[in-house]
Amino acid sequence: MQGIAENIAAIRKEIDEAASLTGRSGSDIVLVAATKMNDTERVKSAIAAGVDACGENRVQELLGKYEEGAYEGRPLHFIGTLQTNKVKYLVGKVDLIQSVNSLKLATEISKCAVKQGIVQDILIEINIGAEKSKSGASEASVFELCEGISKLSALRVRGIMTIPPISHDEATQKSFFLKMKQLFVDIETKKYDNISMEFLSMGMSGDYRLAIECGANMVRIGTGIFGARHYA
Ligand SMILES: *Cc1c(COP(=O)(O)O)cnc(C)c1O
Repeated sequence: MQGIAENIAAIRKEIDEAASLTGRSGSDIVLVAATKMNDTERVKSAIAAGVDACGENRVQELLGKYEEGAYEGRPLHFIGTLQTNKVKYLVGKVDLIQSVNSLKLATEISKCAVKQGIVQDILIEINIGAEKSKSGASEASVFELCEGISKLSALRVRGIMTIPPISHDEATQKSFFLKMKQLFVDIETKKYDNISMEFLSMGMSGDYRLAIECGANMVRIGTGIFGARHYA
């Protein structure tokens, strides 16, 4: 697992540099390891090497690795597409659900949280590129969604998340990240109940430096830490 520790050290260095360009330090940025398709042993090595949190995509995979103790010692985030019928497996188990994209999903999470007597932290996922293939809330619907979610007292919205369109053009990438940063500021200004903009979650292996330069304070990195995923 030598590779994992070395990769994380290199990423931390890049994070420090990008953060310093915006007057922040690396410790202001939360490094989430995107752990999909990496087994418990590899997740544990990433934790030992100092990632701040683990982010999992699939409920089934999360539950299996959870049972094996994969995430012990670090907060666990859910970052994948979530169906309402799977919500009950996550609430109370994960520290942050980053991928809340509708009032229907938020309402279901809130119901489960009420049942358990807890408050569940979430992020709102925004489909900033308006792509048909992606599941976030549309930019236009975000404020209405915030209105609705702010009435669900068993939820606490702690920020927003996005997966922007794949682009190799830096100006295009940057325009999406800056739109997110503006929404982050605008939502905070509204002072909704139960909603505070603490985390701006954007940036993956290929674009996390640019995302940080545009204001991200939470990045989700898979390939850069673990190497290429091998899809069966
Ligand atoms: C897989 C995944 C990542 C990490 O992607 P890499 O390109 O491997 O760094 C980040 N966010 C989400 C939601 C993911 O599913």
